[in-house]
Parts: sequence; C-alpha cells; structure tokens
Amino acid sequence: MRKIILKVARSVGVGTVVATVLSSSSAAQQQVDVLIRGGTVVDGTGAAGRVTDVGITGDRITFLGDATAGRVTGRRTIDAKGLVVAPGFIDPHTHTAGDLSSTQSKAGVPNRANLPYLLQGVTTVITNNDGGSPIDIGKQLEGWTKSGIGTNAAVYIGQGSVRGAVVGPTASAATPAQMDSMRAIVGRAMDAGAIGMSTGLFYAPGSYATTEEVIELAKVAAAKGGVYDSHLRDESSYSIGLIGAVNEIIRIGREAKIPIHVSHIKALGTDVWGQSDTIIALMKAARASGINATASQYPYTASGTSVSASLLPRWAESGGNDSIRLRLTNPATRAKIVPEMEDNLRRRGGASSLLMTSTRDSTILGKRLDAIALARKTSPVEAAIQIILNGGSSVASFNMSDKDIEKFMVQDFIFTDSDGSDGHPRKYGTFPKLLREYVYTKHVLTLPQAVRRSSSQTAQFLGLKDRGTLATGKFADVIVFDPATIADKSTYEQPTLLAVGMKYVLVNGAVAIDDGKYSGVTAGRVLKH
Ligand SMILES: [Zn+2]
Repeated sequence: MRKIILKVARSVGVGTVVATVLSSSSAAQQQVDVLIRGGTVVDGTGAAGRVTDVGITGDRITFLGDATAGRVTGRRTIDAKGLVVAPGFIDPHTHTAGDLSSTQSKAGVPNRANLPYLLQGVTTVITNNDGGSPIDIGKQLEGWTKSGIGTNAAVYIGQGSVRGAVVGPTASAATPAQMDSMRAIVGRAMDAGAIGMSTGLFYAPGSYATTEEVIELAKVAAAKGGVYDSHLRDESSYSIGLIGAVNEIIRIGREAKIPIHVSHIKALGTDVWGQSDTIIALMKAARASGINATASQYPYTASGTSVSASLLPRWAESGGNDSIRLRLTNPATRAKIVPEMEDNLRRRGGASSLLMTSTRDSTILGKRLDAIALARKTSPVEAAIQIILNGGSSVASFNMSDKDIEKFMVQDFIFTDSDGSDGHPRKYGTFPKLLREYVYTKHVLTLPQAVRRSSSQTAQFLGLKDRGTLATGKFADVIVFDPATIADKSTYEQPTLLAVGMKYVLVNGAVAIDDGKYSGVTAGRVLKH
C-alpha cells in the first residue's frame, strides 16, 4: 500500500506492449555495466550466503548467477573473491538532514555526499526523526534533488516541529483550530513525499502533546499510507515509564490504524534495566493482534542527547530558552528544579555517566560531569546548570546494559538504526560495529540475520520499493566488504573516525566507494512516498 514512485515507461492504447527481458539465453552473450565476480552474496532475505556473481546495468541489478556459464561480461569487473556482497544498508533513524542540505565540505568531500554513512555500507538514510523537521517537506526534498546527495534519502514530517510552528514552544493544549492547522501541515507533507510522521515525545515541545492529539495527527499520515516513528515519551522512569511509553505507541498504532516503529529501542537507566523482556512481550502481543509493530536499535551502551534534555524536568523547558534561563536564575523555581535534576542524574547513572561531546565551551569538551564538578568545586547538578546557562552541551550518556541490548537484538521485528548525530561514534560506526562485534566476535547474530535486519526488513516496513535485497530487477544499491577487516573506528573520544573494510558501495548502480575511497559521485535519490 505504500509505494515509492518509480517511473515506468508504458505504451498504452497502441496495441503493443514492449517488455525488456532481463535474463539472457544460454547462447547469447550479455554485457553488463558492472560485474561483481566471485563474492559471497548475502542477499538480504536471511538466506545463507552463496558464492556467485552480480551484474548491474544502469541503476538495476540485471544478472545474478554464474557469469561464466551465463556468458555475462562486464564493462567493468570487480573481483570480490573472499569478500561479502550484500544489499546496501538502510538506516531508519538518522540526523543527516543537516549534512544533506549542507554546502560545506570535510577534507574535500562535501557533507551532502554522506561519507560517514557510505563507508558503513549505508545507501539509504531516513531522516527528520524524533519529531524534528522542516514544515515544508517539498522544499527540503527539492533542494536535495537539485544539489545531489551521496545516499538515497527519505523523510518524515516531525510532529514536534509541527506543534512548535502552530502552538508554539509552550505546554498549552492545542485548540480545535490549531488541530486543524497541524492536520493540514501533516497532510501537505505526506503529499510532498514524506513516508510518515515522526515524534520525539520525550522532547519539548512535542512532549506537550497528549496521546489523543498525537493519534489525531497520526490518522492523517495513516490515511495517506504513512508510518509512525517515535522516540518514545519515556525510555526510562521519567514520566509514564518505559512500559507506559511502549503501551502508548501501541495504542497510537491501534487507534490511528498506522504501522508503528520504536526508534532506538532501549532500557535507559538502572530503574528499567531488565524490562527488555516485558517490552518484547508487549510488542509481540501487539503484532499478534494485527498491529504492524517494529523497532530498531544501535549497538552502543551510551545514548546521545544534551545536558538539558537529559537532566531538566520538561515543565522547566516550557516557553523555550528564555523561560529556562528565567527559571534557573529565579531562586524559587531553581529550588524546585534542582532536586528533580538530581533524581534525573541518578536515573542516568550519576555524574560519571555523562560525557560532554559537542559544545562551544572547549574547557569541558571530552570531560565527564563528575570531573567538571570536581574542578569547579561544586555539585554535579550545579555544574550542569552552569553548562546549560552557558549554551549547553551534547552528551554521550552511558545508561544501557549489554544484556538488554542483546535481548532486543535477536528479535526478528527489530532492525538496525544509527540515530547518528554529531558527538557520538554511532554516526560513523553503527553498521560495521554490528558486524565486527555482534556477528564476527560475539556471534549474537549470524551474518544473514545482521544483513536482513539492516536492509530488507527496513525497506519492507517503510515501503521502499525494489530496495533492500539483491535480486534481478531491484535497484543496484550494492555493497562489497571484507569480512576480515570490516570494523568501526569511531570512539566516544574520537567520534568522527571513519569505518574501515567497506571496499565498494554502489548507489543506484554508480560506484560511490571505489576500492575503499570516495569516488566523487552523488548518486543518491530522494525516495518519495
Ligand atoms: Zn531519538
């Protein structure tokens, strides 16, 4: 029911239908543009790998099999002996919109080439997650088509931004007229090509929406064939609790009749460690009841957020930055905020669990909150307030248990996402880390399982037509990597080190990574709903 627009030439009403036959007769010789020879093909369906050849013509896979027996030759041949050939990975939750729209370059490579993702083998990114997006989706997508992007990209319309634009940054309820305005924006975004609606109900101002309000907007996306993606209202024990938040998204799925997706699923903080079993049971029950309920995760024990989002109570953020500043400098409101921040810090694992990763204050960069407080001879919460008043900081927040991560990982309705953002190694390392650590070292997943949860399952849920598997007729988003060397290099201290081991990445048939190096092409496409 959800379809990515695909141009098909058709002759109508003249009595003839012209068809292109992709398979070759055994006698005739077939030439393809690129022939990838002798690799172990893991096709994304979950089937075991097999040594065979892949032929690509234009933007499509046109041959799969024994090239010698089929008399297939390539204008270009890539020797993939000893390497793995797989469908390009699809990342359902990124923060790449800024890079894709950027006019800047890093080390000679334009940001819009999306190099950190190409070198992970990611050929399609989804962005505008967590409820944050432009209001005019058409303009955003048009811009990318015009300037060129390195990976394919699809977008959500973000409920937080819609609410911010219509209701403002305050905690007030939406009026019926405001509801109509928000519905209209979501409808327009879907018509412009959004694949659904994202929410970040943990974050202000999206958090000020009631469940009923979210359901009303989700209905608009549902009626136009979209999906619902969420950063849950609570991944911990802040407000309604992790279990309450999972029940909320399931209710949204049921009442709005929309496929639902829990982004970066996790049990955040010791209060909720071990709840993975309950969450998995709830999701399975929802699926059994007919709701298309899915989730995705990244393989890291730290999440990435900001000092204010992790520690400030939401009520203290109502009204935006000026109001926050006022409340933090007014002794009466400050006295109310401090104990709540202390509890939030405890929930997160204490001051040593928050590492400053991106801030304009170079004196705290790379330091943990306990060390900053010690140096300033003050309490961690007082130090955090100083940081917020001084412009804030991104943090890596170490709050997950390996046990929960692995329990989520092996579920067949949970895919791979990066949630990639500046200041966290996941933007540069997620997919290679999954392979190196969880396939080749810990053996939590088999290679076909890891590929499937990073490609075809995501494509199927999001309705990305003809992507996510290696088969003739599909788009040629193809990756070739070395199983001996594929690995993440990015760390919390050095989050921007590029991944290694990805030898070739083809995006719509164009070679974007060639023998491990960026080729200069921007062959990505905007994938519209
Ligand atoms: Zn998020």
